[in-house]
Amino acid sequence: MALIVQKFGGTSVGSVERIQNVAQRVKRHRDQGDDVVVVVSAMSGETNRLIGLAKEISDTPSPREMDVLVSTGEQVTIALLCLALQEIGCAARSYTGAQVHILTDSAHSKARIMDIDHARVCADIKAGRVVVVAGFQGVDQHGDITTLGRGGSDTTAVAMAAALDADECQIFTDVDGVYTTDPRVEPQARKLNRITFEEMLEMASLGSKVLQIRAVEFAGKYNVPLRVLSSFEDGGEGTLISLEEDVVEAAKISGIAFNRDEAKLTIRGVPDHPGIAYQILGPIGDANIEVDMIVQNIAHDDTTDFTFTVNRSEYNKALSILEKISADLGAREVVGDDKIIKISLVGVGMRSHAGIASKMFETLSKEGINIQMISTSEIKISVVVDEKYLELGVRSLHDAFDLAEESTA
Ligand code: ADP
Ligand code: ASP
Ligand code: MG
Repeated sequence: MALIVQKFGGTSVGSVERIQNVAQRVKRHRDQGDDVVVVVSAMSGETNRLIGLAKEISDTPSPREMDVLVSTGEQVTIALLCLALQEIGCAARSYTGAQVHILTDSAHSKARIMDIDHARVCADIKAGRVVVVAGFQGVDQHGDITTLGRGGSDTTAVAMAAALDADECQIFTDVDGVYTTDPRVEPQARKLNRITFEEMLEMASLGSKVLQIRAVEFAGKYNVPLRVLSSFEDGGEGTLISLEEDVVEAAKISGIAFNRDEAKLTIRGVPDHPGIAYQILGPIGDANIEVDMIVQNIAHDDTTDFTFTVNRSEYNKALSILEKISADLGAREVVGDDKIIKISLVGVGMRSHAGIASKMFETLSKEGINIQMISTSEIKISVVVDEKYLELGVRSLHDAFDLAEESTA
């Protein structure tokens, strides 16, 4: 008898009827003899609706109150799912994050899970009940409600699976697995049967929102077998996120990720002397703004240009900090662009294949897409381009690297 953690995302619990379908699916699994712990998200659109309500009252809402507010979405769905399970004769009990002691740090809206006290969950499983846990939420050491960042129910599911030493963590969503790229942007995208933790982590970090980054990190760290499946179709194998050694299909490129939440800032004509990067990025870091790509040009006329990217939501804040730095340093000017996006190729096979970067640049140049910034690592190449090129860029790269075809490499 296996213990399975099943997570259902917002679309999968988006209406009463869908919640009833989830209940049927959970019961079928239960009837096969497995123990099931379920993690659910809020109904689709609910978290955004709650954030919208708060924004009507305040531009700078208190992070503590925001977490009290946005965590309510998941409290609704755990109760409704338990009612639906009970209606079809399946014993079930719901728990909020606090009730199962999902202990986190106090970083409201992006808290990290530190510990889970699974005693109550284990007792219920032993008593034959399905346990339904609210995703996305936890509680800090002071008893305050915290949330784990957008998409955080994935992380709750993986953390529960790790704590309970589950046999598999299944993420049920509105696609039937992880694709070579977002199928909403490239209809030719192909479902992957397997992807390594390393690649999935890179895809998630570079913008593929099918799994939250921390969920993948957690699964890799605690070796939790993780599978992405459709909650609307039956019988598929989905995509297994597995350790590298197990992977048979070692394609050069596994997928294309993109991130729409990017913005770029440049400070021009900065006097070039030691400490300049620190003087520019220090205050940005102090303001809790995360910097992604950084480019510093070779100096000419004893001055240099310095460019970096930040999350688009922090663009205005970063711009005003940079303008002040520019004045202090006697730089020439500050320019910014919040209409950019990042497209990335990801694949562990890149390590052993040369020429991938040049093929990427050739493909983009044939389409007349200007590359504004480039960054590489062992298993990824990212470019920053104008946001109007997102679809064209993703589709032309998908085609150039034959990602719609099953790999034979
Ligand atoms: P849930 O509400 O179930 O958590 P999400 O919206 O968070 O669902 O994640 C599923 C969505 O992720 C899909 O509908 C798809 O548009 C998007 N997505 C982005 N990149 C990929 C990818 N590489 N493979 C599959 N889906 C992807
Ligand atoms: N409800 C939360 C969100 O919309 C968490 C999740 O769905 O995973 O981000
Ligand atoms: Mg999600």
